[in-house]
Amino acid sequence: MTDKKSGNTAQPSVQTVLTHQGREPDDQFGFVNTPVYRGSTILFKTLDDIEAQQQRFLYGRAGNPTTESVESIVTTLEGAHRTRLVPSGLAAITIALLSCVKAGDDVLISDSAYEPGRVFSDGFLTRMGVTARYYDPRIGAGLAGLMQPNTRAVLAESPGSLTFEVQDIPALAKAAHAGGARLIVDNSWASPLYHQPLALGADLVVHAGTKMFVGHSDAFAGTISTTEAAWPDVERTRRELGFFTSGDDAFLVARGLRTLAIRMKEHQERALDIARWLESQSDVVQVLHPALPSHPDHALWKRDFTGSGSLFSVLLAPAPRASVAAFVDELKLFTMGYSWGGFESLCLPVKLGKNRTVRPWTVEGNLFRLHIGLEGVEDLRADLAAAIERYTRAR
Ligand SMILES: *Cc1c(COP(=O)(O)O)cnc(C)c1O
Repeated sequence: MTDKKSGNTAQPSVQTVLTHQGREPDDQFGFVNTPVYRGSTILFKTLDDIEAQQQRFLYGRAGNPTTESVESIVTTLEGAHRTRLVPSGLAAITIALLSCVKAGDDVLISDSAYEPGRVFSDGFLTRMGVTARYYDPRIGAGLAGLMQPNTRAVLAESPGSLTFEVQDIPALAKAAHAGGARLIVDNSWASPLYHQPLALGADLVVHAGTKMFVGHSDAFAGTISTTEAAWPDVERTRRELGFFTSGDDAFLVARGLRTLAIRMKEHQERALDIARWLESQSDVVQVLHPALPSHPDHALWKRDFTGSGSLFSVLLAPAPRASVAAFVDELKLFTMGYSWGGFESLCLPVKLGKNRTVRPWTVEGNLFRLHIGLEGVEDLRADLAAAIERYTRAR
C-alpha cells in the first residue's frame, strides 16, 4: 500500500486497494493518478551509476512507473509474490507456459481452455519439441493419472471458456505438484475479487486484462502473477522474449481497475438476473452459469468462489441456422463480437468444433455466449425475449 499517512497495518479491503494502491501523488506534484510514462531510454549520470545498475529503472522495456502501478495492484489482489503486465491475455498465457518448459517437456491443458492458447500449444510449443495434451476439465484428482515424468505445466481455466466447467483447483494443484509440474490458472472470468487461485495451490495466475480490468473495450493487456518460486522463470522468459507493455495501455488498465469492484458487482447481479430469467423461457434447454444451482459444478463454485462474472452461455433447443440468424441479426442492445468485459452487452453464437478434443461437444442445440453489460436489465431482457421469439418462429 502507498498510503503513507495511515500507519495502519491491518490488511486493507479490496476496494481500498483498488482505489489507493499504485498511486504516489507525492511523486507526481500532487496529481491523483500515476501519469503515462513513455520512454525507452533512461539516463545515467556517471560511470559509477551505469556500472552499478542500481537505479530503479534501467531501460524502458523492463517497465516504467505506469506499468508498475498496475502490477502492484494485481499482486495484492491475487496475493502473489509479483506480477508482470504483458501486452495481451494471450501473451500472458504463452509466456506463462513457456516459463515452465524446455524441449522434451510436456504440458497438460484443460479441454475448455481459451482456444488461442490451444493453437499456441499445438503449433508453437509442438514445433519447439514440447508435447501438448488435453484433459477433461472435470478430471480433478484424476489428473494424477495423466501426469508423465516430463509434464512440467498444467493450464487450467475456471470456469472454462464458452462451456463454463468449474475446475477443482486444489486437486489439480496437488496432482501437478506431485508430478513436478506447475499449475497455471486463467482467472479472467471471476477476477481476483471472486477467486484467488494462488491461495488454492496454483503457481501462476493469468488474466486477460483486456476484459474486466480494462472494462471499456478499448485496450489490450494481460497479467501474470506468481508465487516466489515461479517468478524468476516468468520474468526471465518475458525479458528474453522482449515483451513490453506501453505506459498508455497501462494507464487504461489502471483506470479500469479503480472501478473494478463496483463494475464486477453490477455485472454479477445483472448476469445472474438474466441467467435466472432465461432458465424459465421457452426453447431454453440449459443456462451454463456456475452460480445457478442447476449448474453441474455449482457446489465446486460455491466452495472456491465468492462471486461470479458477467459471462455465461445459454443453450437453445435444436433449430436450423435461420433461427440462429433470426436471434442475433436483429438484436437491438446486444451486439456480436469477440472479447467481453466492457460496459456493453455482447452475444456470441458459439461453435464448438476443433477446440474440444477430450470431451467433444455432442449436445444438440445452439449455444450463445452472453456478456451482460451495464445497460438497464429490463431493456436487456426485452431484447433477449424478442430474440427468442424470432428464434422459435424461424424453426
Ligand atoms: C480473451 C481471453 C484471453 C485472451 O485475452 P486477449 O487480451 O484477447 O489476448 C485469455 N483468456 C480468456 C479466458 C479470455 O476470455
